[in-house]
Amino acid sequence: MMPRSQERSALEQEQFLKILSREEALAGFEAALFPRVIPIELRKLADALGAALAQDVTAPIDVPPFDRSNVDGFAVRSADVAAAGEGEPVRLGLNGETIHCGTAPTLQVAAGTATAIATGGPLPRGADAVVMVEHTQPAGSDAIEVRRATSPGQFVSYAGSDIARGEALLRAGTIIGSREIGMLAACGIAEVTVARKPVVAVISTGDELVQPGQPLAAADIYDTNGAIVTAAIDENGGEAVSHGAVPDDEVKLEAAMRRALADADMLVLSGGTSKGAGDLSHRIIGRLGQPGIIAHGVALKPGKPLCLAVCDGKPVVILPGFPTSAMFTFHDMIVPVLRRMAGLPPRSDARVSATVPVRIASELGRTEFVMVSLVEGKDRLIAYPSGKGSGAITSFAQADGFLRIDALADQMPAGTEAEVTLFTPHVRVPDLVIVGSHCTGLDLVTAELAQAGLTVRSIAVGSLGGLAAAKRGECDLAPIHLFDDQSETYNTPYLVEGLELVPGWRRMQGIVFRKGDKRFEGVGAKDAVAAALADPACIMVNRNQGAGTRILIDRLLGGARPEGYWNQPRSHNAVAAAVAQHRADWGMTIAPVAHAVGLGFIPLAEEHYDFALVTARKDRPAVRAFLNALRSEDARAALERAGFRPA
Ligand code: AMP
Ligand code: MG
Repeated sequence: MMPRSQERSALEQEQFLKILSREEALAGFEAALFPRVIPIELRKLADALGAALAQDVTAPIDVPPFDRSNVDGFAVRSADVAAAGEGEPVRLGLNGETIHCGTAPTLQVAAGTATAIATGGPLPRGADAVVMVEHTQPAGSDAIEVRRATSPGQFVSYAGSDIARGEALLRAGTIIGSREIGMLAACGIAEVTVARKPVVAVISTGDELVQPGQPLAAADIYDTNGAIVTAAIDENGGEAVSHGAVPDDEVKLEAAMRRALADADMLVLSGGTSKGAGDLSHRIIGRLGQPGIIAHGVALKPGKPLCLAVCDGKPVVILPGFPTSAMFTFHDMIVPVLRRMAGLPPRSDARVSATVPVRIASELGRTEFVMVSLVEGKDRLIAYPSGKGSGAITSFAQADGFLRIDALADQMPAGTEAEVTLFTPHVRVPDLVIVGSHCTGLDLVTAELAQAGLTVRSIAVGSLGGLAAAKRGECDLAPIHLFDDQSETYNTPYLVEGLELVPGWRRMQGIVFRKGDKRFEGVGAKDAVAAALADPACIMVNRNQGAGTRILIDRLLGGARPEGYWNQPRSHNAVAAAVAQHRADWGMTIAPVAHAVGLGFIPLAEEHYDFALVTARKDRPAVRAFLNALRSEDARAALERAGFRPA
């Protein structure tokens, strides 16, 4: 036998080399964990909400426990009144009691008699039906006349007709909600055996992590995974215990992992799984228990650096650091195991079929998950890829679901009919679909629609992507800001038949710099650029090819390529951030963005942000609501306050 340390390093070596398929990794993980005994506990009904039943529950009694009247009226023998009618009333003598709820009858209903009975009252001996009070008339003080034919069993709920004694009431694995609690209470059950929720410890790793609520220092980011994973554990039957973020320090991390695992059934870490020098968690796992690492590296995208381990019977997982990757791998690979440990059935996700309007490139050899937003096309659902890369978090909130691209495919061609797994039980098609270039001003206009209960989906694909979607009739409006070099005008030259222009607002573009910078303070745009070019220490930040702003920058530079020219971010905000953070000294962005971060601003030219409206969709209520909102005083005032100039 190999000594322990050697055995471990051989194991690690192997893990480092071998990337498992999604199916192999999951199968290995489950095989190391199951079968296992699911711990159970007895809970009072009042504390059972959200728990999973550990055993089938059989009804101990009949519900209702006796034959019961459904109406206020009279308990009768149906044979007595089988032939009654408006023209032939039947007279019945009244027995000397009234049966209320909770009153046990004492007198028998003999032929030719009736007993007054309230809704919920137990049927007396001899009676087999109830006549509604509305279908009778008093006949003196001790008799009634019945004017309606009555059949056996009329207005009677028989004992056990709701729940029969011995019937399987609820199945093991059912999550107890208010309806289940109602059924249990109706049977008189005060306590249930439920699966004890697995306690799952959550640790985020990374020197850069700060908890939400705390101030963010330079180069820090907020611990997003901690919050995501904690919530996802609770959503899937676990009880999450958050241990915050631990720095990338082997001694501290090992102590934190041991402490967390001691009181938990499972440990979920995130970050530090890339096989770089700072990545320690997987090394520590090797020392925590047997058999240790099952998979380190799974052919998933996002999510390749996922690490799955079992340490002395407890699952220990390291999710990738990027929040979207962490979320996908958690849902795809960890949730099935967590649910089994929690005594829950596998999650059943709703699926729909939808057409993909654009080609989606995919990495060969990895099962790829792509988040999509669903919109209604002409006669089918359209699934827009909404991912912004595995580092992005908003894509999750805006997506309706995801589609999967097989490991053996290197792309999904445009026009593919794909199966979309929904994040929600049903497709929610938005009332208004806006596809194109995003602007923070848009949110100020759509706020009114949201207040009116209309759902708005805004998909940011850039001006040209929006125009293409509008031409295909996949959106109501495409926000665009496209400059036409030849006519030196915005937007109108880009419209085609079926589209019309709705003026939006103007955005002043100009040079941004840090306030107090003498090279830029108080001078015009041309002089500012001249001063920047004259100073070899001055660094600029550019924009991406194709951006309207880029055309302006290139004109100003007149062919010069100063330091920073190749730094070409894709958004106005990124330009402002680069200057504010001293990575660059000047760049070009729009006034509202410059002012929001407190930068100096030299105005240069106005950009027109307008909407290409799909004429065929003009009369849809949500479109009309949008056009009204756009013209409303409130929205115009809000746009002006934010630094835009409504058209
Ligand atoms: P790592 O695997 O630690 O190299 O992390 C990969 C990326 O994910 C880095 O950009 C990290 O800053 C980021 N990251 C790691 N953990 C978290 C977290 N808890 N919340 C948000 N981002 C994270
Ligand atoms: Mg890290």
